[in-house]
Amino acid sequence: MPDVLKAPLVVEFPFTRSVGPVQSAFLTGLRERVVLGVRTGDGRTLVPPVEYDPVTAEEIRDLVEVAPTGTVTTWAWNHAPRRDQPLDTPFAWALVRLDGADTALLHALDAPGPDAVHTGMRVRIRWAEERTGAITDIACFEPYDDSPDDDGPDVDSLDGNSPDRDRHDVGSPAEPIAHTGEFTDPVTGIIAAARLDYTYSPGRAQTAYINALAEHRNVGERCPSCRKVYVPPRGACPTCGVATSEQVEVGPHGTVTTFCIVNIKAKNLDIEVPYVYAHIALDGADLALHGRIGGIPYDQVRMGLRVEPVWTQGARYPDHYRPTGEPDADYDTYRELL
Ligand SMILES: [Zn+2]
Repeated sequence: MPDVLKAPLVVEFPFTRSVGPVQSAFLTGLRERVVLGVRTGDGRTLVPPVEYDPVTAEEIRDLVEVAPTGTVTTWAWNHAPRRDQPLDTPFAWALVRLDGADTALLHALDAPGPDAVHTGMRVRIRWAEERTGAITDIACFEPYDDSPDDDGPDVDSLDGNSPDRDRHDVGSPAEPIAHTGEFTDPVTGIIAAARLDYTYSPGRAQTAYINALAEHRNVGERCPSCRKVYVPPRGACPTCGVATSEQVEVGPHGTVTTFCIVNIKAKNLDIEVPYVYAHIALDGADLALHGRIGGIPYDQVRMGLRVEPVWTQGARYPDHYRPTGEPDADYDTYRELL
């Protein structure tokens, strides 16, 4: 058996979302070094805040400010930080219940090693030097010794919306303080970069399919039970639940079974819109595959159109499919392949 292929596969996209009133106040607060939570109807304080009570589903809007100090409620050591994680040295992922809050916030805890971390330890926020209104405005948490020997805070000086944030640098257990949540230039949306790093292996059947494609051949596999030919093959028949192994060459011509007209230009894809993307049943296959249709105006593509693959130099896959000029296929020949 030839070696099974594998290759890195990165799925990466910017996710743009609006944040709503509560998350807006929370994120803008972080920019201003203020941690806001919400107060539920039964008097609990949730940090990070949510817009609806997780128990009663009631809308909640009562914002409160909590302390930048807290207690680790649980943690796990991260031995090998990955790209874009909060710290590039080993650190703990910790749930921290900030003083005044009833729930815990997940963030990084900077500590010299796992022996320096324990449930119940006191920590405080280390603010990022440049803050933009994002969860990363909290650079991380750090161990914090607030034993009575330290200078205690002057609780009487606490003032709900005071611009003087110095007290956060000492921090202390404190009652949540009502907060308007109003800031100048509030954050209304965020762009979260999503990235998933995979090592993808297509398995035995698709490895054989891809290797045959490199020779411009379409090789599927036939189910020994129902006799269906799967292209691309998955190694098993999903209907019968049995392994497929008999290789069958199909195509290269095929029939458009269904299609859509694409009007939105994809990033990094140099194809003029509108264009047509179609399901194509290759001759001899019992499953349609996907492909772009070219060589014909987009508004003349139709079900039953007969097409053939067009290869570009050195490509593993057909660049697109174009009309062969044959008469359209009769609907009954592909009705089971829609
Ligand atoms: Zn089958």
